[in-house]
Amino acid sequence: YEPENRPSFLTVLRELTDIMIKPLPIIDPHVFHKRHLKRMRDLGAGHFGKVTLYLYDPANDGTGECVAVKSLKQESGHVPDGWIEEIKILKLLDHGNIVKYKGCCTELGESAALIMEYLPLGSLQEYLPKRKVGLPRCLMFAQQICQGMDYLHTKRYVHRDLAARNVLVENDRLVKIGDFGLTKYIPEGEIYYRVREEGASPVYWYAIECLKEGKFSFSSDIWSFGVTLYEVLTHCEPRRSPLVKYKEMNVGVAPMTVMALIELLERNRRLPCPNECPHAVKMIMEQCWSGDPAKRPTFESLTKAFQDIGQ
Ligand code: ADP
Ligand code: MG
Repeated sequence: YEPENRPSFLTVLRELTDIMIKPLPIIDPHVFHKRHLKRMRDLGAGHFGKVTLYLYDPANDGTGECVAVKSLKQESGHVPDGWIEEIKILKLLDHGNIVKYKGCCTELGESAALIMEYLPLGSLQEYLPKRKVGLPRCLMFAQQICQGMDYLHTKRYVHRDLAARNVLVENDRLVKIGDFGLTKYIPEGEIYYRVREEGASPVYWYAIECLKEGKFSFSSDIWSFGVTLYEVLTHCEPRRSPLVKYKEMNVGVAPMTVMALIELLERNRRLPCPNECPHAVKMIMEQCWSGDPAKRPTFESLTKAFQDIGQ
């Protein structure tokens, strides 16, 4: 009310200019702050990493969203090769059958943690044994895996760890591929990525040329898809797992080593086709496990094949 308390035009002008030139605080939706992450429960763990469910709740009133956070299992001072690579790769991928990248948190441990969307039904390995999933839905899941993998291959990435444990379930009708921890880029003009790996490798999902020569290609992912398809059709029952079945084939021969596995595969022994499996699907499985990588189908042709079977 007091005219002498009103600012002059000059003061107003100064204040407005101040507001205009001051940078607005930048809110990066991909940066997650530790103080807003509320730990709910463990979701799973693998070789180097562990995945934990958190509620991200910046308003601190329980209205936040659930996110899955992948971080290093032990903080040993050494960050494994590929850890940051996994985050970079997932960030670049955008497909309905690939788990979505949400961001990073750099405050959770020694190295960045990956924040992904949370898929409430866990992996196919947790989901399938508990439910009665009929053949049409198994084949629908298989087709969705092929769609996600076809996209990954068009971006020239080989997954190298395709298995039921790495396929996540959003709901009863939708699955997405996860775990890009072993994924590698194949430069244009090249056919494979060569690795010799010490430590635990998912050998029962590996194609014969991966076991013998460490050659990973788009075709070796197709072999692993064949094993994943086998897992889906056997509902990931532990007593019919690839390990159990290969061991049964090897009984009385030698201990189950990688060498023994190579010998079995060289003698053209393969996982048994599940009883409930239609002939067309059996043919697909056999093609995926062809000893000659060039004779295996592509994810594009497999997507089409599952479409035709489903009609
Ligand atoms: P690792 O590289 O250690 O194998 P994964 O990325 O495969 O890690 O995750 C380990 C397990 O955690 C998965 O098998 C699955 O059970 C669970 N998991 C991973 N990501 C998610 C997610 N986004 N939503 C729900 N569960 C997940
Ligand atoms: Mg995994």
